[in-house]
Amino acid sequence: MPTTLIENGDVIAYVDGAHAVLRDAQVVYDGDRIVFVGHGYDGAVDQRVDAHGKLVIPGLINHHMAFGIHMQMYRLDRARANFFNSGLGFGIQSEKAYHGGGPRPEDWRASAAFAMTSALRSGTTTFLMVPNYGSHPYRGRVGTDQDLIDVTAASGLRAYLSLPHMSGTARGKEDGTLEWVRLDAAGWEGLDHAVDFARTHNGTADDRIRTFLFPYQADNCSVELLRATKDAARELGCLLKIHTAQYWLDFVEMIRRTSKTPIQYLADADFLGPEVCVAHAIFTQRHPWLPYPKDDDTDTRLLVESGASVAHCPVVYARTGFVLHSLSHYVRAGIPVSLGTDTSPHDMFMEMRTAALLNKLTEADATAGTAREIFDAATIGGARALLREDLGRLEAGAKADIVLVDVDRDHLAPVAAVDPIQALVYCARGKDVDRVIVDGVTRVRGGEVIDGDLDALFADAEIFNQRLRASVANSVHQGQPVTEYYGTAFPAWKE
Ligand SMILES: [Zn+2]
Repeated sequence: MPTTLIENGDVIAYVDGAHAVLRDAQVVYDGDRIVFVGHGYDGAVDQRVDAHGKLVIPGLINHHMAFGIHMQMYRLDRARANFFNSGLGFGIQSEKAYHGGGPRPEDWRASAAFAMTSALRSGTTTFLMVPNYGSHPYRGRVGTDQDLIDVTAASGLRAYLSLPHMSGTARGKEDGTLEWVRLDAAGWEGLDHAVDFARTHNGTADDRIRTFLFPYQADNCSVELLRATKDAARELGCLLKIHTAQYWLDFVEMIRRTSKTPIQYLADADFLGPEVCVAHAIFTQRHPWLPYPKDDDTDTRLLVESGASVAHCPVVYARTGFVLHSLSHYVRAGIPVSLGTDTSPHDMFMEMRTAALLNKLTEADATAGTAREIFDAATIGGARALLREDLGRLEAGAKADIVLVDVDRDHLAPVAAVDPIQALVYCARGKDVDRVIVDGVTRVRGGEVIDGDLDALFADAEIFNQRLRASVANSVHQGQPVTEYYGTAFPAWKE
């Protein structure tokens, strides 16, 4: 592999355990590894990249990314009051929309490729998948495992993949109520399948693809299943992720069922640990919208003591009226916090900005949600959650996952001249990304994906969308056409 020197740009270097701004500096990588960050490199070089006017940053880690052009977007303004705006009970998606003549396997492949391409173009180099592809505990099977691996390998991205499992589900009933049902056999079967998938595919695509286990939701996993999953992960040596305390509703359900908060439930099941990422940990006892004793902030303490990380996806929750209290609180307590886009669009810059602004609002404190805390979350926070010391940073020995952002633009230049990180967090957008290098391979140049057929990708994604919309249009839920839940801002003009 040739040795490449990136020069003439400002570099966010990793020095003494933290990011630092290095003006007019150099980054050298050889194969998949960075070999030098600093000034005055005097080794042999095969090719040079002029980064004048660009900011050189570590590739961003999207630690919670779903595929698909998500239907959430169409129901934003009509959330269903009876489910407290939660995504729970969206059995209407699984049982009706996804299978009522909905997208076909090849459409799911297209939607995954679309999501990965848009993530890549906006500076993501590593993503951890929120599975809505392959085998899913309430969506059934969409696409094949091999499809998922093939699409991911072709994307060039670094990825953590999993097939989720759980021993129950929250089901929206026709009468408008929501019920949690136990499905133990499905949980055990799902765990077997997930372990098979994890064992078979870990380390593929030159080790760009790694696998993890994902008991999908704490409120839908029995203690026995959690314990068995933890053991299986230990045996495989892999990471764990789980959805916890996402909504007001699952917090209340866990109190009702177990008299424990969702975090306490996981702690008592001996599930938490440094290899575990908790998504999204919004409704802990500390949340001001819960009339629950705040006492000594036990939920935070349990997370800290366990070493578990929290995945934060501010945009997707803000859309339905929920907000974490707060990223800064977790960071300052010592909990690794990562950022994720969850649903589309997969623009980590939008995610960073939203995280920062919401954090200042929730804490009623402009010094909370600092650009430093937020940029750390999108880089080394994600790396800590993945237990990787070679990602999310530009230093010798780290993986050559490198992004060049064009800061020579009117909305960035004045701020970037003083503080490039504040410019990125408060002003930048995915479209400002100029070049993306993953594992030493340049995948995006001049803002465009190399070797990618974007027109074909858009066309395939549109077919996916059409089939998804058509299946929604044919569905009825609680006596109403499902389209009632997927309205448009203005009616179409009928001539
Ligand atoms: Zn999620």
